[in-house]
Amino acid sequence: MLAALAQSRKALPECLPNPPVGCLIINAQEIVAEGYTQAPGKHHAEADALNQIQGKAFNFLKMYVTLEPCSFHGRTPACALAIAKDRRIHEIYVSIIDPDPRNNGQGLDILKKAGKIVNVGLCANEVNAFLNQYLNKVMVEQ
Ligand SMILES: [Zn+2]
Repeated sequence: MLAALAQSRKALPECLPNPPVGCLIINAQEIVAEGYTQAPGKHHAEADALNQIQGKAFNFLKMYVTLEPCSFHGRTPACALAIAKDRRIHEIYVSIIDPDPRNNGQGLDILKKAGKIVNVGLCANEVNAFLNQYLNKVMVEQ
């Protein structure tokens, strides 16, 4: 997760006003994709990472993402839905829940309903210290 946090830091400042999220995909012990949030309207961290393994045959992948994947369709499709549909992703580690009222646990629900193993809280203190200032905590106009 600390490697995903390092990816998070790379997202700044282009990603703003979206939060700088980092994402890793692991196959066995090996990193097969590293993503971070791109400029608004382009890939979020999760989509950036999934894009790197497009068309590759994997099973039982683990994804590490610093913030709960988004559950709402904004300028880009919802990441939680993209992960839910990807049968290669078996288990997801999310560091912190997204307080954005449009998400706030709904992204995790989508993943769990899709049968993924979801773990929350890994490195939460470290991730929160960096990410907290960039999170949306109030309802905003799209
Ligand atoms: Zn997203």
